[in-house]
Amino acid sequence: MMMKKNKKGLLTVISGFSGAGKGTIVKKLISEHNDYALSVSMTTRKPREGEVNGREYFFVNHEDFEKTIAEGGLIEHAQYCDNYYGTPKDYVFNMLDAGKNVILEIEINGALQIKKKFPESLLLFITPPSAEELKRRLVSRGTETMDVIEKRLSRAGEESEGIEAYDYIVVNDDLDKCVEDIQRIVEDAHLSPVRCKDFIEDIRNELKAFSKGEK
Ligand code: 5GP
Repeated sequence: MMMKKNKKGLLTVISGFSGAGKGTIVKKLISEHNDYALSVSMTTRKPREGEVNGREYFFVNHEDFEKTIAEGGLIEHAQYCDNYYGTPKDYVFNMLDAGKNVILEIEINGALQIKKKFPESLLLFITPPSAEELKRRLVSRGTETMDVIEKRLSRAGEESEGIEAYDYIVVNDDLDKCVEDIQRIVEDAHLSPVRCKDFIEDIRNELKAFSKGEK
């Protein structure tokens, strides 16, 4: 018999250098599989052209961001290139309880906070095949000035120091393959004992009932 899938969803962090293609990957993953939910972060960054409040981010000012931190409304937050970013708590817990794998597309400091608070979370690091390809993608995206691109590349260098903290590296060479890889890793991760607490508890209780002669 197939093992019952863990009832709760898996808290899945997806990080990667700016320009690694995380956004595209996550959109495709969500549109192809209905057991995923994407957490929308709060940020003090200004919206880029085409970004909608509540869809890409909840865009707020510094004061409101700090107020949300003080109220305990974020499960993690970090500063990234002069702006604050954070993950609202309620959506994440509600979706995990509903059995959805919740994706947090966040940077490394946030990822480390999540792993510390939720050891059963899964941390994936997406990278392009090379640094040269990363720079090419950032430049061709055309959404940032050269100054910002340089900041982001330097930040990528710093982030590369922390890759070992992640559970898996996923190389984004081919979009379809990358999404398939993530889907497979998440499916497999559901079967690790730290993430199957409900299943283990159920089977233990059933076995106890057997030994007491109740079944
Ligand atoms: P961008 O400004 O390009 O949308 O995002 C910049 C960086 O912030 C990306 O690496 C993105 O993954 C990260 N980020 C987005 N939302 C959050 C969040 O809620 N928390 C943290 N720690 N990082 C975030």
